[in-house]
Amino acid sequence: MSVETQKETLGFQTEVKQLLHLMIHSLYSNKEIFLRELISNASDATDKLRFEALAKPELLEGGADLKIRVSFDKEAKTVTIEDNGIGMSREDAITHLGTIAKSGTSEFMKNLTGDQKKDSHLIGQFGVGFYSAFIVADKVEVFSRRAGLPAAEGVHWSSRGEGEFEVATIDKAERGSRIVLHLKEGEAEFADGWRLRNVIKKYSDHIALPIELPKEATGEEEAPAELEWETVNRASALWTRPRTEIKDEEYQEFYKHVGHDFENPLSWSHNKVEGKLEYTSLLYVPGRAPFDLYQREAPRGLKLYVQRVFIMDQADEFLPLYLRFIKGVVDSNDLSLNVSREILQKDPVIDSMKSALTKRSLDMIEKLAKNEPEQYKAFWKNFGQVLKEGPAEDFANKEKIAGLLRFASTAEGEGEQVVSLADYIGRMKDGQDKIYYLTGESYAQVKNSPHLEVFRKKGIEVLLLTDRIDEWLMSYLTEFDGKSFIDVARGDLDLGKLDSEEDKKAQEEVAKAKEGLTERLKAALGEHVAEVRVSHRLTDSPAILAIGEQDLGLQMRQILEASGQKVPESKPIFEFNPSHPLIERLDAEADEDRFGDLTHILFDQAALAAGDSLKDPAAYVQRLNKLLVELSA
Ligand code: ADP
Ligand code: MG
Repeated sequence: MSVETQKETLGFQTEVKQLLHLMIHSLYSNKEIFLRELISNASDATDKLRFEALAKPELLEGGADLKIRVSFDKEAKTVTIEDNGIGMSREDAITHLGTIAKSGTSEFMKNLTGDQKKDSHLIGQFGVGFYSAFIVADKVEVFSRRAGLPAAEGVHWSSRGEGEFEVATIDKAERGSRIVLHLKEGEAEFADGWRLRNVIKKYSDHIALPIELPKEATGEEEAPAELEWETVNRASALWTRPRTEIKDEEYQEFYKHVGHDFENPLSWSHNKVEGKLEYTSLLYVPGRAPFDLYQREAPRGLKLYVQRVFIMDQADEFLPLYLRFIKGVVDSNDLSLNVSREILQKDPVIDSMKSALTKRSLDMIEKLAKNEPEQYKAFWKNFGQVLKEGPAEDFANKEKIAGLLRFASTAEGEGEQVVSLADYIGRMKDGQDKIYYLTGESYAQVKNSPHLEVFRKKGIEVLLLTDRIDEWLMSYLTEFDGKSFIDVARGDLDLGKLDSEEDKKAQEEVAKAKEGLTERLKAALGEHVAEVRVSHRLTDSPAILAIGEQDLGLQMRQILEASGQKVPESKPIFEFNPSHPLIERLDAEADEDRFGDLTHILFDQAALAAGDSLKDPAAYVQRLNKLLVELSA
């Protein structure tokens, strides 16, 4: 080994220390995955080299025979993974192996409780990677040189995984990286050809370039002068093989490599398209949402290959934003090898690929919903909120996306989002031609809303929408399967054929009979309301506030206000239940002052029941106390 110069000791970023600790403890039962991760990195490194060499062939330094070699030393208890990929400069090693660049990492790490059991599931949202080497090694050394740098600019990185690492500049003749793991006491099992071969076959068979192990000596022939190597994996790009020949486990392991995930995907879709456009895609639905799903700068998109040559990670031009959780590869025969992000954004070929891949993704999700309802529940928990962005972003697929949505409802699920629109339509009453829904802050709040009274009485299901995005979603979702959506808290509720002619006649008569009371209420509430009318929505409550047909709902109003926007003032409609004893009592009240107080109390209570806050809570309390005093006098 050569001389080391410019040696320095540096501390890991805090997040790395936390991750290391978490990983070593939570992945111990699955420790062999370290090899998969290091091979995955070596494969990425050769992909990057091949790509950069398209423009700068001199990077190959005469050697285009890309491969990964795994060797071991039983005595020294080491395992070595070596690649001739892009390699790392000293600066690369310091940043890539000393920090985590993902945005939102430190917030994510704040979720750690210190309780290993509780924390261990968090690692699934984060992914592992290089640091998994420390599960089995108490010292890790990296010898690397970036392709294109002079031999004297190699780097030696080493660490015991305990808070700091050392870097030094070394001479390294060959480009690429060599990772040496000094196995912990008790992990010597990995310094063994059979063990390594099995782990490679199990997790890394799909890696597209050869992974070589030293050929086992049989003991019969003379020991060769030089080590002989043999390829242990299949060494062909998985997506180029016919579907029928690929086992589920292979698809799953390949996912972990491209998805930088360590859990299995929920499903996948592998397709070869021929004709005007030629490309192969392999798309996956992950099993779990990454911690940074809602981070703007979080990595997303597919891994792009052109004729088997890796071009870029995170090509996000192939899928809409609401499908940003989909992972996988797309390998095109039509794009040119020097395609860039700028070109991708303008190329009409990309548009048609995008719409086809969007459709494939939706089909895959639809299939999951149909065939694996339990899995679909997990999918919905992880990605439902993101899918809800779909109808606004993707007009063409609105109906298809709507079919994938799941809602809480008055009919089943106790607040769980399990009801599809097809379920709902299947349960519609005779004469019902609308899909009814109510939005609000929480299930607990909406499930007892007075707005539901008439629906409960008539046995009509209402969808209960309480996610922050819901009201916005519903402003884009107006119809499904030819049936329009009706917000039950909005406008003058018309139940259509669900109300019989007699019902309607009776309603008109009551409205007429209560014209006097209506006028009195209107006078008492004055500018607080847009309108006062007899309600058909109520059975148990005395009064309710409805939102005007064109007005913003409460949820949107609160979101806009919270973001500091000026929201146009809109007044509610006060509806009263003429057969409620309180209203009857009110009707009989001769004292106009008392009538006014009672009316305002009813109005404020209706606002509270709708989940709104009172404009003048002190006045409400005052009026209520006045009444209480009178009562107890
Ligand atoms: P990820 O692979 O998800 O980026 P890792 O923790 O596995 O995360 O690796 C961190 C980074 O270290 C890689 O992104 C890469 O920049 C660098 N790296 C790791 N292994 C190698 C290697 N064999 N050759 C070159 N760079 C590497
Ligand atoms: Mg990695």
